[in-house]
Amino acid sequence: MYAKSKICLDLEYSVFESDGLWSLPDEELLELARREIVELGLVRGEEVEDGTVVRMPKAYPMYGMSSTGQIVVLRSWLDRNLVNLQPLGRNGMHKYNSQDHSMMTGLCAARNILGAEHDLWAINTGADYQEEPHGR
Ligand SMILES: Cc1cc2nc3c(=O)[nH]c(=O)nc-3n(C[C@H](O)[C@H](O)[C@H](O)COP(=O)(O)OP(=O)(O)OC[C@H]3O[C@@H](n4cnc5c(N)ncnc54)[C@H](O)[C@@H]3O)c2cc1C
Repeated sequence: MYAKSKICLDLEYSVFESDGLWSLPDEELLELARREIVELGLVRGEEVEDGTVVRMPKAYPMYGMSSTGQIVVLRSWLDRNLVNLQPLGRNGMHKYNSQDHSMMTGLCAARNILGAEHDLWAINTGADYQEEPHGR
């Protein structure tokens, strides 16, 4: 039943199916998640009432090295033949963009339509990937 005093928290663990975490029993994963949100100071342990585990195979697209050359060909064709097309977002550019970069390409694309000259492909170029390996 809906109650204003409760909240649903979603914790995402990105793993390969070969990682131990993937096949950890649900109860152990829920206990790990409970421990971690307590450590983070989000809740007190006794406040956690229930949990559920959803395993989503193939959730994360892998950008193969061979696609880089193909993207160069596509980009150069688009530049020459569809000059008023604004490719943007993660799938629209087939680029390893985070949410903020994806949104930035959308904002800059809108400004381009209004006359600006942002290079959408330069957004996120050379940005460091900030997530550290789990080390579990
Ligand atoms: C598993 C996973 C975890 C991630 N974790 C993070 C994170 O922690 N932090 C972070 O910053 N980024 C994260 N990202 C990346 C982030 O999700 C993307 O960068 C961002 O969502 C891309 O936004 P977008 O608008 O380009 O594309 P999307 O969010 O993919 O939106 C595209 C939309 O278009 C719809 N669509 C597709 N084809 C059609 C069609 N033919 N007609 C109509 N609609 C269509 C799709 O259903 C979708 O709703 C994660 C991505 C994945 C897959």
